[in-house]
Amino acid sequence: MKMFVDGKWVDSVTGNTSSIINPATGEVVDSVPRGNREDVKVAVDVAKDRLKKWSAMSPIERSRLLYGISDVVRTNVEGLAQTLTMEQGKPLYEARSEVMGFVGCLEYYAGLTGRFRSAQVPFTSGEGYSLVTKKPVGVVGAIVPWNFPVSLLGWKLSPGLAAGNTFVVKPASTTPLTDLKLAEVMTNAGLPAGVLNVVTGPGSVVGEELLENPKISKIAFTGETGTGKRIMGQAALTIKRVTLELGGSDPMIVCDDADIDLAVEGAAFGRFRNAGQICTSVKRLFLFQSIASDFIRKFVEKVKLIRVGNGLDPHTVMGPVHSEHQRKEVQQMVEEATGRGAHVLIGGRSPSGTEFDKGYFFEPTLLTEVDYDSRIVREECFGPALPIFIVRDLEEAIERANDSIYGLGSSVWTKNLERAQYASEMIEAGTTWINSPPISRPEVPFGGFKQSGIGRELGVEGLEYYYETKTTQVYEYGKGKKWRYPEN
Ligand code: NDP
Repeated sequence: MKMFVDGKWVDSVTGNTSSIINPATGEVVDSVPRGNREDVKVAVDVAKDRLKKWSAMSPIERSRLLYGISDVVRTNVEGLAQTLTMEQGKPLYEARSEVMGFVGCLEYYAGLTGRFRSAQVPFTSGEGYSLVTKKPVGVVGAIVPWNFPVSLLGWKLSPGLAAGNTFVVKPASTTPLTDLKLAEVMTNAGLPAGVLNVVTGPGSVVGEELLENPKISKIAFTGETGTGKRIMGQAALTIKRVTLELGGSDPMIVCDDADIDLAVEGAAFGRFRNAGQICTSVKRLFLFQSIASDFIRKFVEKVKLIRVGNGLDPHTVMGPVHSEHQRKEVQQMVEEATGRGAHVLIGGRSPSGTEFDKGYFFEPTLLTEVDYDSRIVREECFGPALPIFIVRDLEEAIERANDSIYGLGSSVWTKNLERAQYASEMIEAGTTWINSPPISRPEVPFGGFKQSGIGRELGVEGLEYYYETKTTQVYEYGKGKKWRYPEN
């Protein structure tokens, strides 16, 4: 494929390309241009040029257009999902659900387009009034990771387009294909050419140009906390607005009164969905002592049923991890934990067999007796391995849950609402799910406390981050005297 700029497929000025690899087979799926700073500059100029017309479109027209585009994306779910599975590795059922999530997010913001009320604020001095209105931020640089290339693009595009901004998107180097196809589908469905541009190439070149380019007003980023720090620093040079969705090490707390079967289901979904590569995956499991052995026995039985394989196989429950680098990272974290005395209950290695030879597979893994200073606890383990801890009570669970640099998600499993509310108050995380694994919804804000990020995506709050607030002070004729300059 090529890059998508100004509604057209284009090559990079470098003429270079990069191969996209299927994580299940190691085979080349396709190739894309390896763009450079010049390619970004062209795309940014196009996006800047289209800003005036796009932001001037009436909200009702923009809303209708976005609804229309979401309908067209829905009719393309199958093709987009196939591409997503082949470049990312996730099973087809998860890929379909991700594309449908994009559609749901776009529809939600299509419905919010133009629904913001502005304010008229009378001066307390009685001289007149102010109008407080909203303006689009401008050209947005969206930097998207490989774990959810479609939905995390949707979380940025949907509110951003609804608010009248234009975009230059940089997909992850390993998952550009579905984003490129989406840009074409959306443009064919009526999005004006140049409102959404996709430039492929390395973060260190294409990404850095987005951070430095003075015509970009905002960076919307999802990815690793270290990259987020770099982005915040570089964005400061031109005072760009930033929203950063970064790493997490989400605790799941199962109390002694929880529905154990439900919590086991939740833990399996929460840790192994997308092969554990979700910022809000369950990454630390805390079990009350009295239910721990029952829970662990049932959890191991559940994990035995997770069928690992190529995401295109309809029987596959969990696909490969995304890259050899990721597979090695997870393996090293497990080995470091076992070196410090952790016990592997199940998994702990790559599965054997010819179907797994060329892909980046890792078995779903559960660990107990894990040293709390192991990397798998202290860092973000982005793969299918879960440390399990036994705690005395809720206080101990909350104290441990908060003992992390991260604060993205968390979950508490109990039938006692008072207990659940108390835990939600005390846990330092952007979201706490009660009796549910992590599921994001377009209508509620999502984001992190502490080093898990800054700003919010989704919900009405997410839309706010794509606006500037404009104040117009209106002085009634003859009343604005306070500023008169003294004559002597
Ligand atoms: P990164 O944060 O490096 O990548 C995310 C995006 O940022 C990609 O599009 C990447 O481009 C881009 N990028 C990288 N460097 C720069 C830069 N200097 N300027 C601008 N953009 C840049 O994550 P990785 O893909 O390297 O994954 C590493 C780890 O990050 C994972 O193991 C996981 O722990 C964590 N992660 C967390 C995610 C989350 O949702 N919380 C999502 C993805 C990863 P390119 O692909 O070209 O490098």
